[in-house]
Amino acid sequence: MARSLGLSGTVRNDTRGVTVELQGGRNAVYAFIERIKGPDLPPLARIDSCDAAEVDPVEGETAFNIEASDGSGPPESEVSPDVAACADCLAEMGRAGDFRFRYPFINCTNCGPRYSIVKTIPYDRPNTTMSAFSMCRRCAAQYHNAADRRFHAQPVACGKCGPRIWLADGKGAAVTAGTDDTIEAARRLLFDGKVVAIKGIGGFHLAANALDAAAVRRLRQRKKRDHKPFAMMAASLEKIMKHAEVSEEAGRILQDPRAPIVLLPKKAGSSIAGDVAAGVNTFAFMLCYAPLHHMLFEKDIDVLVMTSGNISDEPLVCGNDEALSRLAGVADAFLMNDRDIYRRVDDSIVHFITGEPVLLRRARGYVPEPVTLDKTSPRRVFAAGADLKNTFCFTSRNRIFCSEHIGDLADGRTFRHYENSIVHMRQLFDAGFDVVACDLHPGYLSRRHALSLPAGRVVDVQHHWAHVAGVLAEHDSEGPVIGLACDGTGYGTDGRIWGCECLVASLEGFDRLGHLDYYPLPGGDAAAKEAIRPLIGLLSKAFGKECGIERCKWLLERIEPDGEKRRVIAEQLYRGVNTVETSSLGRVFDAAAAAAGLGGRNHFDAQLPMALEAIAAGGIEEAYAFELHRDPDGMVRLDLGVMFLHLVEDARRHRDPAVISALFHNCLAKGLAAMAEAARENTGIEEVAISGGVFCNRYLTGRLIEFLKRAGFRVLFNRLFPANDGGIALGQAAVAMRARADRATHNGSNFFKDRG
Ligand code: ZN
Ligand code: ZN
Ligand code: FE
Repeated sequence: MARSLGLSGTVRNDTRGVTVELQGGRNAVYAFIERIKGPDLPPLARIDSCDAAEVDPVEGETAFNIEASDGSGPPESEVSPDVAACADCLAEMGRAGDFRFRYPFINCTNCGPRYSIVKTIPYDRPNTTMSAFSMCRRCAAQYHNAADRRFHAQPVACGKCGPRIWLADGKGAAVTAGTDDTIEAARRLLFDGKVVAIKGIGGFHLAANALDAAAVRRLRQRKKRDHKPFAMMAASLEKIMKHAEVSEEAGRILQDPRAPIVLLPKKAGSSIAGDVAAGVNTFAFMLCYAPLHHMLFEKDIDVLVMTSGNISDEPLVCGNDEALSRLAGVADAFLMNDRDIYRRVDDSIVHFITGEPVLLRRARGYVPEPVTLDKTSPRRVFAAGADLKNTFCFTSRNRIFCSEHIGDLADGRTFRHYENSIVHMRQLFDAGFDVVACDLHPGYLSRRHALSLPAGRVVDVQHHWAHVAGVLAEHDSEGPVIGLACDGTGYGTDGRIWGCECLVASLEGFDRLGHLDYYPLPGGDAAAKEAIRPLIGLLSKAFGKECGIERCKWLLERIEPDGEKRRVIAEQLYRGVNTVETSSLGRVFDAAAAAAGLGGRNHFDAQLPMALEAIAAGGIEEAYAFELHRDPDGMVRLDLGVMFLHLVEDARRHRDPAVISALFHNCLAKGLAAMAEAARENTGIEEVAISGGVFCNRYLTGRLIEFLKRAGFRVLFNRLFPANDGGIALGQAAVAMRARADRATHNGSNFFKDRG
């Protein structure tokens, strides 16, 4: 563009972004500045800010040149997320005669791997895993030609000089040579019901034909994943539409270059094997995003299960040798390539809350894009995140860089991946830190890790405050807001297990104005798996200790036939042994789902709540009753005792579980809205921020937003970050950037007490 405007000067990537020096007529210079901001911007470019200043003319400058990157100084520039194959590249890949005809690693400046291959910055080929391949003459010519679509495309390659694919058997021996042979063999195996591990952008997928029930069952058994729904891949929207409802917005997101998995309502009569996604009302679909996927789906294959290449909840496999050893016995064959993946990045997941796209898992395609706040902070923060669905953050000035989804830290491999990822991210953004932020929970591994790091200060951020602060950060708001934070568990400032909280919160502090009335939860860690435990606790609260268990014996027997086990749990409850007082809303869902006859066990996180949501009948406005108590000190307690009386009675009379579910959801939405109204009376605040894993429930969240809006509130909710614990690190970071010095205490006892 500079050349076309007759300007001389230079452009270079430096650690602060892009610096352009221009010399020429005033009109031409200003035309350049206008055009770069608008229509002439390349597809993936985004300008966050553009500053112009006059400088002294450079003597003897006659041409416009691109200069080498400057890697010195503090890096501030961004590494791009990975981008799905663009239409131009796919067209070339299909055009006989093009020198990248049928080349499965075709890419350009508008597409291809980025974050997953970068070892360090600046983002130049020697700093990526593509450094192992030297460009051939033709690739190099394009790479160096400023007028070419592949100018400075770091992963540029062709069949002559770049990575290649092959198929390996279960023992790692190559059984094919050449691209077409390999694709054909892999496709045949999949068509025959085999499981193939496919190396993609951020790691391996395990693939199987989604229409083949036996193949899907085999994959489940081998992956040791009994129930959790599988994600699927298809080549076109039309193919997906045969099985799921695709709204216009959903179609747009499926086709976005970020190419996430999108949760879509199931269509009746779909031929997808029932085992792919039992107990939920959605299918998880994505479109082909790597050129290799497009080749694989050219014929014979309609829909593949494409689930993360791992065993149960371990980290995603991304190395060739690692795949052969860890996925041995799971995959019948391995579709390999020799382009190394440096960062393992899972597929991102998007779903819809009141018609708006919301991220459920933030990883490939979105990471490492930062959150940019209006205000800068002199502090450099490391936020350790939560132990479940962990992510972590670094901050720099007014930016928060969040890691991709790391996983559950209790798994040893995942914890090591967490430690390594922190080191890598730190290097990638040259992120030093003088403050660490972490959860209050004394047993959290993320907390212990944070405390082991050398930092000047530690900021404890209570779990539900972090949930609400995450929403504030996402909306670049300082608060205060009324925060409704609802989830399974979070350590409270009173040492109890919180999980349904009404806060007034800003980034500087919070106060607790209300919560779900505490109920006893027997059974420690088992309580999150076995619904009988919260059910016994909630019934004993609703009906009185002995009475609840006696009166509802028929129900408890149905859920847990083992009388001895029921007796032990009741005993724990009576004596207060291994029993905690909690306001967990997640466990209330478990109990209600079990009472409604949907099973007694969470085989994976939130299985019972998801099953309860999936069956909720539409068009029901009524709700079970609830009570709101107000203590002398102003604390509001939401009491669900009456609700359980009615719910159990309905279950006894075999009322339609779909109706029970709707009445239950509506009751919670009304109860939460009522807490927010009570908080408004106290504070005059008109804005509500909702967050926490419970709000991954679309029915509940939709209802709550509706009730809050009807009551005149403005409602903020998570969009770019998950409402579950994947959003905790963002909230911790935002708080630690703002927390006042005297409140950054280690014991969490100094939170502000003003009530607005
Ligand atoms: Zn491209
Ligand atoms: Zn080449
Ligand atoms: Fe949480």
